[in-house]
Order: sequence, then C-alpha cells, then structure tokens
Amino acid sequence: MYCFIAVCLNWCILVLAAGSCGRRKVRFSVTSLHSQGVQWYPLVVLLVLVACARGDLFSKATRTKADERDLRNSVFDFIIIGGGTAGCLLANRLSAISDWKVLVLEAGVDENVDFDIPGVPSKEYRPILWNYRTERNGYSCLSRPGGSCEVKTGKVLGGSSVINDMKYTRGSKVDYDGWHSTGALGSLDWKFDSVLEHFKSIEDNGDYDVLMNSHYHSRGGEMHVQRFKHVDRYMEIFTAGFTEMGLRTMDINTNVQEAVVHNQFAISNNTRLSTNSAFLKPVRHRKNLQVITGAYVTKIVIDKQEKNVDGVIYEVEKGKERPAYAKREIILAAGAINNVRLLHLS
Ligand SMILES: Cc1cc2nc3c(=O)[nH]c(=O)nc-3n(C[C@H](O)[C@H](O)[C@H](O)COP(=O)(O)OP(=O)(O)OC[C@H]3O[C@@H](n4cnc5c(N)ncnc54)[C@H](O)[C@@H]3O)c2cc1C
Repeated sequence: MYCFIAVCLNWCILVLAAGSCGRRKVRFSVTSLHSQGVQWYPLVVLLVLVACARGDLFSKATRTKADERDLRNSVFDFIIIGGGTAGCLLANRLSAISDWKVLVLEAGVDENVDFDIPGVPSKEYRPILWNYRTERNGYSCLSRPGGSCEVKTGKVLGGSSVINDMKYTRGSKVDYDGWHSTGALGSLDWKFDSVLEHFKSIEDNGDYDVLMNSHYHSRGGEMHVQRFKHVDRYMEIFTAGFTEMGLRTMDINTNVQEAVVHNQFAISNNTRLSTNSAFLKPVRHRKNLQVITGAYVTKIVIDKQEKNVDGVIYEVEKGKERPAYAKREIILAAGAINNVRLLHLS
C-alpha cells in the first residue's frame, strides 16, 4: 500500500516536473530535475525504495518473515493497559494460567528501591507522577488558588500504590452493596460479601488481634498488612479525644466504617509494599507474561462495525508507535483519570 502511494507520488512529480519544463526537451533524470528546481526528487526516490522494502506489515503480499514474527509476537490473550495498583494484581492472576499470554503496558518507569521508604517519594517527585490539575468549576476546590486542585497519581510500575499513603482500606460495605443493587453493575456481583472472599485471598495480615476476626481477615496472601510498631504520642491524644466523643476504636475493614482506627498499612519489614512488589515482581519470570515499561498507550483500536476492541497502539518513544492485539480482552487499568482520557482519544 505504502509502496503504491509512493510510486504514484513519484509519478506525479515526474509529470509536474515535465510540465514545468514547458515545451522544451524533457529528460527524466535526477540531474535534469535538479536543474529545474525539483530539489526533493532524490528524497522521493528514497521514500519509494524504503516503502517498497518495508512493505505493509498487515498486507500478506508484502509481509516479510520478520514482519510475520513481529505480528505473531504482538498477539496476546490479554492486554492490560496500566501496570498500576490494579494492573499488577491482574497480571499476576491472569498469567497464573500458563496457556494465556499476557501483556502489561505501563507508561512509567520500573519501581526503584528509593520508593520503598514510606513517605518517600514525596508527592512532589515529578518523574513518577501524572501531574494533573482540575478545571475551575465553581463548586470544588474552592479553597485553593484559582479554584483548582492538583491531582497527582503514580506513573510508575505499581502506579499510585508506589506514591500513596499505604493505608489498608477496603472501602465501605454500603457502597459495594449499592453498586450491586443498581442496574449496570448488578451483574458483576460486587456485593460486599462476595468481594470479601477476594480481599481475604490477597491478604497476609500481620496483627494477631485483627486476624482473630477470621470472618473478615486471613493470612497467606501476597499483600502483607500490619500496623507500624511506633505509635505517635499525638495519635494517642487524638484517639482518646475521639473516644471521649463517643466513637469506638475499631477495625474499619469490616462492615463498620465510622470509627477511630489505628490503621494497618501495606508494608513489609516496615517498608512500602506496592502492588508491583507484592504481585508482579514475584511472577515476572513467567514466560507467558510480558511487561513493557515506558509504553504509553495512545489508542485503543475499536472495530466500529463489529463493535469489538481489536488491540492497542502504544508509543515506546515519542512518535514511535507499535501495535498489540488481544484475542480475549483488553483491560483498562490506567487509573480513574487516564482511563477516561484514553477512551476519549480512542
Ligand atoms: C497521594 C495519594 C494517596 C493515597 N493514599 C491512599 C491510602 O492510603 N490508602 C488507599 O487505600 N488508597 C489511597 N489512595 C488511592 C489509591 O492509591 C488509588 O485508588 C489506587 O492506587 C488506584 O489504582 P488504579 O490501579 O486504579 O490506578 P493507578 O494505581 O494510578 O495505576 C494506573 C497506572 O496506569 C498507568 N497509565 C496511565 N495511563 C496510561 C497509558 N495511556 N498507557 C500506559 N499506562 C498508563 C499509570 O502510569 C499507572 O501506573 C491514594 C492516592 C493518592 C494519589
């Protein structure tokens, strides 16, 4: 296809050049065209040669063996867009089935040992952050200059679990039950009692008083959660104050969310435990799992007639695009903002 277009282009240039020569004798040589001011003719010849040599990856007629190999290597069962908090866990579970070929595309860099220190990287650590800012809308962020807030999420393998506060919070039972009973999400069976089994399957709880409540907690999962050993004096003062006001000190990862809590954190040996460290690193050796960092997905390829999603286009360097195709599913795990952004761009 490229080759055909380039040949046509070439031919048009020759015809135009001939026209510009008027009725004088026309010689179709590179030198004569130069002398007629068509300086870029050699460039076009080069374009024709390159296009013919490269061919079209997707046209069977011009496909080379290397193209065939590239195409084979770009087909996966599952493509996970975003190797963040959710993406790392999904990659672990899906690639546990050795027949499934799984690709994780993460825009950010690999996680670095510096990021394991709780509280570091600070929220200002720009290279591993998506630095977004809300638009002024008249009803949110009113206390901020210009009515606009900064929204920073993780751009790194492990996503926001590498930059967040590490508090172990499952969310409210009321929300899960609400999602279950309202229309579109009903079929997903996201009742709290149903998702509880999944929370327990990933948990490795290190606090015995919490673990004793075995209806809600368990051991043996990949994600170690525990309280910090050091209890700050101010924390004791605050807790005593809230207790005086009538709030109970409780574990909020049960069916109660309104309480005073000594949080548990996603930590291991007192250092941060991102989902990359907990779920992805231990299985990166799997042959059916490919993780590409610095891979920015620019588009989800949608077959509008079939109403199917075929694959994705991603950039490894600015302007250098690659395709990847999914036989089963493409999973959008790029975070709350970038998921929507990518859908708009697609
Ligand atoms: C500062 C902060 C503190 C927080 N503290 C807590 C806490 O203490 N406890 C708690 O439970 N929750 C906390 N949260 C919330 C929690 O971290 C998030 O809800 C959770 O991490 C979101 O997970 P996710 O997988 O949806 O997205 P993310 O973890 O953000 O992952 C999205 C991934 O997709 C990648 N990506 C995005 N676009 C593309 C693209 N086009 N191509 C390729 N890759 C892409 C990103 O780089 C990122 O790695 C906090 C969040 C923040 C920002």
